[in-house]
Amino acid sequence: MKIIDIIKSEKPSLSMEVFPPKTTDTFESVRIATEKIAVLSPDFMSVTYGAGGGTSQFTADIAGNLQDKYDVPVVAHLTCVSSTRDEIRKQLDLLRSKGIENILALRGDMPEGMSKEHLDYHYASELTREIKEYGGFCIGGACYPESHPESANSIEDIKHLKEKVDAGCEFLTTQMFFDNNLLYNFIYRARKAGIDVPVVAGIMPVTNPKSIKRICRISGSALPQRFIRIVDRYGDNPEAMKQAGIAYATEQIIDLYANGVRAVHVYSMNKPDVARKIMENISAIIK
Ligand code: FAD
Repeated sequence: MKIIDIIKSEKPSLSMEVFPPKTTDTFESVRIATEKIAVLSPDFMSVTYGAGGGTSQFTADIAGNLQDKYDVPVVAHLTCVSSTRDEIRKQLDLLRSKGIENILALRGDMPEGMSKEHLDYHYASELTREIKEYGGFCIGGACYPESHPESANSIEDIKHLKEKVDAGCEFLTTQMFFDNNLLYNFIYRARKAGIDVPVVAGIMPVTNPKSIKRICRISGSALPQRFIRIVDRYGDNPEAMKQAGIAYATEQIIDLYANGVRAVHVYSMNKPDVARKIMENISAIIK
């Protein structure tokens, strides 16, 4: 099933993100974790792509398994900056052979020290165009309510985002954010710039305060004072932090739906218990 048909419907949707294993040894444990999320019946699931593409087969295998066994629509992520055209073509063939119909087309993080001169791809818009030419996939792209960290400013960022949509992105999924006003402001600016595709709001339930500070440094997502106080108070108590992180994410999600956002994507990070709790918290809202 094409993701665009799910997120364009009037019913609010809730989707979950998982990541593939890094090694063959951990494949089984990751498969089991992703299946425990699939049985919760999210509207769709997305499977990330390892930086550099070294685990591209795992992304396809995990995505294909979820779709075949649980009939859950799947989005496979695909990054391009570290790949050749030939490698991308092979991954598209693999995804097609597994019946995957949706791709989140990404540039990926620029590997340190890599010369930009000899790259086959520089931006996600080039990959988007190529997947569109290949045909048959519903294509999504990433967007950044607080601007991509490499962008000179928010106007440039939106300008390039528009190019990506014009290249063939049918929907956009946001980077995580912890203040909904940032998203409302971003949607307003995107619509004003003529970007009219659905925006799926990405929400991260924070259960590990150590990793979130690192992730925010890399992604450029700001942590509001209200959230920092929660981390300061409960960061050393894993159970309390988990409860508070899930409650914070739940509150964000309810506010988003109440303000007309129809699609929310939870960065569930292979944690079935977190995914289950969030779904329980909003069960009547997404019915
Ligand atoms: P782009 O859309 O290409 O943008 C990158 C930067 O280039 C931006 O600053 C943009 O403004 C600028 N730009 C774009 N076009 C031009 C142009 N023509 N001229 C000048 N500047 C331009 N990473 C992974 O490795 N695996 C994943 O599975 C993964 N999943 C993700 C899912 C989501 C929802 C998000 C938000 C991010 C994800 N990432 C993933 C991280 C992503 O790869 C990085 O954020 C990366 O740095 C940018 O990718 P992009 O597709 O947004 O790039």
